[in-house]
Amino acid sequence: MQTLSSFLQDHWVEGQAPFTALHNAATGQEIARCSSRGLDLAAALQHAREVGGPTLRAMTFAQRGQLLGRLSASVGAHRDELLDHSRLNMGTTRGDGKFDVDGASGTLAFYAKLGAQLGDRSFLLDGDQVQFSRSKRFVAQHILTPRTGVAIHINAFNFPAWNLSEKLAVAVLAGMPVLAKPGTATALLAVRMVELWQREGLLPPGVLQLLVGSAGDLLDHVGSQDAIVFTGSGATGQQIRGHKQVLALNVPVNIEADSLNACLLGPDVEPGSDTWTMFLAEVVREMTQKAGQKCTAIRRILVPQALLEQVREELVGRLADLRIGDPGDDGVILGPLAGPAQQRDVLAGIAEATKHAQVVWQGPLPLEGCFAPATLLQTERGIDAEYVNDHEVFGPVATLFAVSGQPAEAVAIVARGGGSLAASVFSDDVAWSRQVLLGIAPHTGRIYWGSAKVFDQGVGHGAVMPSLVHGGPGKAGGGEELGGERGLRFYSQRTAIQGDTQMLKAILG
Ligand code: NAP
Repeated sequence: MQTLSSFLQDHWVEGQAPFTALHNAATGQEIARCSSRGLDLAAALQHAREVGGPTLRAMTFAQRGQLLGRLSASVGAHRDELLDHSRLNMGTTRGDGKFDVDGASGTLAFYAKLGAQLGDRSFLLDGDQVQFSRSKRFVAQHILTPRTGVAIHINAFNFPAWNLSEKLAVAVLAGMPVLAKPGTATALLAVRMVELWQREGLLPPGVLQLLVGSAGDLLDHVGSQDAIVFTGSGATGQQIRGHKQVLALNVPVNIEADSLNACLLGPDVEPGSDTWTMFLAEVVREMTQKAGQKCTAIRRILVPQALLEQVREELVGRLADLRIGDPGDDGVILGPLAGPAQQRDVLAGIAEATKHAQVVWQGPLPLEGCFAPATLLQTERGIDAEYVNDHEVFGPVATLFAVSGQPAEAVAIVARGGGSLAASVFSDDVAWSRQVLLGIAPHTGRIYWGSAKVFDQGVGHGAVMPSLVHGGPGKAGGGEELGGERGLRFYSQRTAIQGDTQMLKAILG
């Protein structure tokens, strides 16, 4: 069996026993193993600080962008091979694999282009000059310079390619070297990507290291100039934020965690209309794409009582038509979950959810492999509904909420989720939408407004765009990634410099 190595201090190194198994999600069979035991993580972090950081800080944004552009091109050139790795280890259909792999190359390409636009600078100005009196001689300017430590990226299992690349793109463009740790269960794809980049000579020394296996004592060695970005469960996020070394040194931590994302149907929407069609297509896609293992997936569907029966019928019809099975087979839309641990979690989550909401429809469960049945639930209890308002079942599972259609009620239910990454609103009624959009905005990182005017144009509720922020308040982690140039700020120190106008100009341009 293949033993996956970590890429530390510019070399591939194997950890020691005991090993953790990686599985073929479609069959449940073991396909590889890995361990981080015995690896010198303190030395790895120091290598990034001493070698990778100075290299990147000596480069301009344009040069860092060129580096990212080469990584993006490499992912594109090896797309089919990477999709095979995704199918094998994660159980993705070709479409689901593309969402991850093309998302990776697209995000790297986006930040490559941003690097070209930022040009020959190596740090950013933040805002305009500040003048203190009538005299223009003594002024101040805020600047953003890259932190001199390591960007430590701890990723979830569900997007091994995109999660690695989206965080890497922003940190590298900002000027920080990266130590990335993929979710162990699906690390195969991340390992293959870094192997390709390294063999093609695309990684300057110390700029990217990959830790495969558990985080071990990694956080015991963080320094005050490091930055931690985490994607995963809220419970792990809290452990990381509360780590004694992280607290003692005030190391910045960005967290993307659990999210009870909602989708709201407006009372104005006519069955059969374009907006209706968009709404149904989004709900089905969000329940089934990547077998529902998306942090942005729709978990709560708010439907006015008057439209509920028809929505339910149409959703059940569409879900019942979907083929579930081996992700390599043509026509299969719903593949397995990423592995046995994920299957255990989701089946337990479905069992618990059905104690709090009625099952409207449940799909078949293949006998072999790490599958979960697509499950549509329903509740009339609104903000009082337990479990389905609190707990994210990370699989093909969503709950219909029967609501009145009043904006205030919809806002209260969205808020009851405790903070979300994404929400979608489907309505052509601007007055209703205004109340809902502005009401749910404080509870939500991104809102997708579907209407007849954008029929066939929207990118979809679940797609994270590199130009837009990704993150959400409260339960969703309170973090923010991407967002174009906004994302660079997390990896930078903002400093106000006061002095003579002309002398400052000589340094800052
Ligand atoms: P997880 O168990 O929290 O693991 C996430 C990452 O943290 C993995 O790389 C994991 O390593 C690592 N980790 C675990 N314990 C750690 C510790 N004490 N110190 C440092 N790192 C530690 O989450 P997951 O199972 O991968 O993902 C599932 C959950 O994440 C879902 O329930 C979903 O809600 C959430 N999620 C959120 C987003 C988002 O963008 N907001 C995206 C995806 C998933 P190992 O793999 O080695 O355990």
